[in-house]
Amino acid sequence: MKIPSIPRLKLSYGIAAAAIKFTGQQYIPIFLQPISFSTAAAIELRGNNGPATNAPSSSSLVDDFTRFCYQRDLHMAMETLNYMQINRVWADCITYSELLKCCLSRGTIKQVKIIHNHLFSYGHRPKTFLTNVLLNMYVKFGLVRDAHSLFDEMSERNVVSWTTLIAAYVKAGDKVKALDLLVLMMKEGIKPNMYTYSTVFRACHGLTDLRQLHCCVIKDGLDFDPFIRSALIDIYSKWGELDKSIRIFNEVSSEDPVVWNSIIGGFAQNTDGDGALNLFKKMKRFGLEPDQPSLTSVLRACTGLALLELGRQVHVHVLKFEQDLILNNALIDMYCKCGSLEESNNVFTKMWEKDVISWSTMIIGLAQNGFSREALEMFESMKASRIKPNYITLVGVLFACSHAGLVEDGLFYFYSMKKVFGIEPGREHYGCMVDLLGRAGRFDEAIKLIHDMKCEPDVVTWRTLLGACRVHNNTDIAIYAAKEILNLQPEDAGAYILLSNIYANSERWKDVAQVRKDMNIHGIRKEPGCSWIEVNRKIHAFILGDKSHPQIGDITSELKILIWKLKEVGYIPDTNFILQDLEGEQKEDALFFHSEKLAIVFGMMNLPKESVIRIRKNLRTCGDCHNFAKILSSMDNRNIVLRDPIRYHHFKNGVCSCGDYW
Ligand code: ZN
Ligand code: ZN
Repeated sequence: MKIPSIPRLKLSYGIAAAAIKFTGQQYIPIFLQPISFSTAAAIELRGNNGPATNAPSSSSLVDDFTRFCYQRDLHMAMETLNYMQINRVWADCITYSELLKCCLSRGTIKQVKIIHNHLFSYGHRPKTFLTNVLLNMYVKFGLVRDAHSLFDEMSERNVVSWTTLIAAYVKAGDKVKALDLLVLMMKEGIKPNMYTYSTVFRACHGLTDLRQLHCCVIKDGLDFDPFIRSALIDIYSKWGELDKSIRIFNEVSSEDPVVWNSIIGGFAQNTDGDGALNLFKKMKRFGLEPDQPSLTSVLRACTGLALLELGRQVHVHVLKFEQDLILNNALIDMYCKCGSLEESNNVFTKMWEKDVISWSTMIIGLAQNGFSREALEMFESMKASRIKPNYITLVGVLFACSHAGLVEDGLFYFYSMKKVFGIEPGREHYGCMVDLLGRAGRFDEAIKLIHDMKCEPDVVTWRTLLGACRVHNNTDIAIYAAKEILNLQPEDAGAYILLSNIYANSERWKDVAQVRKDMNIHGIRKEPGCSWIEVNRKIHAFILGDKSHPQIGDITSELKILIWKLKEVGYIPDTNFILQDLEGEQKEDALFFHSEKLAIVFGMMNLPKESVIRIRKNLRTCGDCHNFAKILSSMDNRNIVLRDPIRYHHFKNGVCSCGDYW
């Protein structure tokens, strides 16, 4: 709904501003109370730069100021504040805090600094309460240094001041400083409260002081506090020590949703989707209504594990929180990551409010699922709706270009992103460009770009180049890229195997032996391929060479029959391993039992014919399995979606959404 703008009225009439009031039917302009003549006179004089000659009375200035603050008229409030400053008048603390809140909601730091100067001018000192509000402002604006110098200026500090500053450092990622401050605070004899502890715990990630702090908490008798417990659960979960989190959770039966949210989030974070969902159900049985954070956690678990069925169940609960932006964004992400673009688009189009995250998630989701044109169209609509793209959005846009081989578009977006959107290209953007140029066979440009990168290229950058070498059978550059990978990550099994395959192919046996030796030295074995499929809300895992699945016998014989049938319609097993990072000894026989093939057959045996077979795999899929799935999708009229660590393959009617480009 568009709010009509009302022109400001002339000040000389003594009327400050016009506002609008929503009557439920239409917007009608109403006039605010006239400002006092003293303020009007003062404001009239503002061109003269000097103190007002006929000084307005202090009390009327303060009255006007107070009214403007409560009316959230930032412009008039600041004008009046200027005259209060000249006349050395100050209002009460609550009024200033209203004004500061108004600055925060409008995102204007300039005014905050003016208010700061005013509050500390001519020897005036605001109350601790107000200084804490000001401190919090700097933290909210991410200005840690300003916050700290204000903190140093404070003559009196309480726990709120300390906790605010500690939180600022936690937010800025300076954990050591945050913990130092906690020690300093205790030395000054100020007792941390539950907020301080829960803030500090979150800073402990990666540091070892947690046990000591945990002891302090128990000593202070705060260990049953829901905030503290939730923070402890969070931190132990983050460290992957889920058992400790569970112990803390089980210590006391809690009715506090905060604690439940943390433990559900913990399970989700540790990729235990079943656990997260069971707790979620238990929470409901407990009579606790799932709230936004718990639903977001469960959705994240579903997203991480591509659990579409569970995700759909959670969606039902989300409906209660109609038009919640965060939940809707999580839903879009979940559906995209589960490869169900239709459902994500459904959620997206029904959203009243969309932010940069909603748009970016859709753009990336479309691009990753092979809908590059749609992704770029979405980007155009985003710009048309005046939402400013961010770093992530541009990654999605460039990814879409590289995916569809749109070299010129990609180059255009890449070279204009800084100028047009003010976003400095980062590693991810360079990665997309290396992919784009590499796939187009423009290796010289791709390598030049890597050398020109402002940030150091990482393993992913080189792997991207390697991927392009596969497409173009460029063994020389493949060797170069593999060696760069091994420089950065000497344990990369894939790079070794690739090198060994290339050398073996050109009969460089000495080099092959050297690679094998290096692998032994580093104790490297290739991570086995593993595929997951969800059937009847249960996850089934298949690993190459693993016979533990109860139906493995049936699956294997079914697969053999299927391959025989597929061969009749043109499937030829592809045993060219040279540029694949597969073990060389895996010849045709082993190829037949790659985990994704087993998972697909299992899906065909257990899912109704019309339902999509959705597989998730830990490694990049090989050319043979890709071909297998393509031919199968047309022969059996099956839709198959395969998600690997980088992209999605939608197999339908004999073609793949990736355009055989992955
Ligand atoms: Zn395969
Ligand atoms: Zn594909």
